[in-house]
Amino acid sequence: MRSELDNVERLTLVGQMAAGITHEIRNPMAVVRGFLQLMREKSPDELNSYYQLVMEELDRANSIINDFLSLAQSRVSHKERVPLHHIIEELSPLLWADANLRGQSVELRLGPALPLLELNVREIKQLILNLGRNSMEAMGAKGVLTLETRHTADRVELLVRDTGSGISESQREKLFTPFFTTKSQGTGLGLSLCLSIVERHEGSISVESQEGVGTLFTVSFPYDSEENARFAVAE
Ligand code: ADP
Ligand code: MG
Repeated sequence: MRSELDNVERLTLVGQMAAGITHEIRNPMAVVRGFLQLMREKSPDELNSYYQLVMEELDRANSIINDFLSLAQSRVSHKERVPLHHIIEELSPLLWADANLRGQSVELRLGPALPLLELNVREIKQLILNLGRNSMEAMGAKGVLTLETRHTADRVELLVRDTGSGISESQREKLFTPFFTTKSQGTGLGLSLCLSIVERHEGSISVESQEGVGTLFTVSFPYDSEENARFAVAE
């Protein structure tokens, strides 16, 4: 009975998502079509700026499709025992480059060696990038993005903190809803994707925020401390 209900719920969700993505993809397609029509009549100079806009809209449609595909992916993902710190360190040059372009900075506060987790590396990278990019987009120049790790007896936590605009209480409820965005160029799929990745790792994600001060996303992964004792290695 329960799984039947789950199936109905899943089908409803897929239907809603399909409607959402159709709408989202039609917008950039309509813009591209409009510009192509205009381009027929324009001089080479004017064409340059149209070219830029057309490329941006196509990139946007592409990223909607990519996010949507990752979201619709099967719940079974390949996991391996990897140190979370390695993944963060591998990503940090990318985050740094992105932050630098915006005049922002990135701080890593990696705690002592963490228990090893079963992780899908590609998905965890996507999780960190999505959270990090949201933070950067919420901050102006001089903003600071901080990635922090810590662990308790049975959980490993990743904290993503920013000094950005913060999130109002009414918006907080909708954050993880597919297609919810406050950005003109946003897809609203980033956090939905983060949630589905965290759930595929049996973890949880929470948010604390103060408008005008900043936001903190906490991702928490469970681990089996007894099993972990056999695998724990110094990082
Ligand atoms: P998108 O980034 O495409 O808008 P997301 O699902 O990644 O979609 O985020 C949804 C919305 O949540 C954003 O539009 C923004 O309003 C809000 N948000 C997410 N992260 C932050 C953050 N760190 N600071 C402020 N607002 C945020
Ligand atoms: Mg986003």
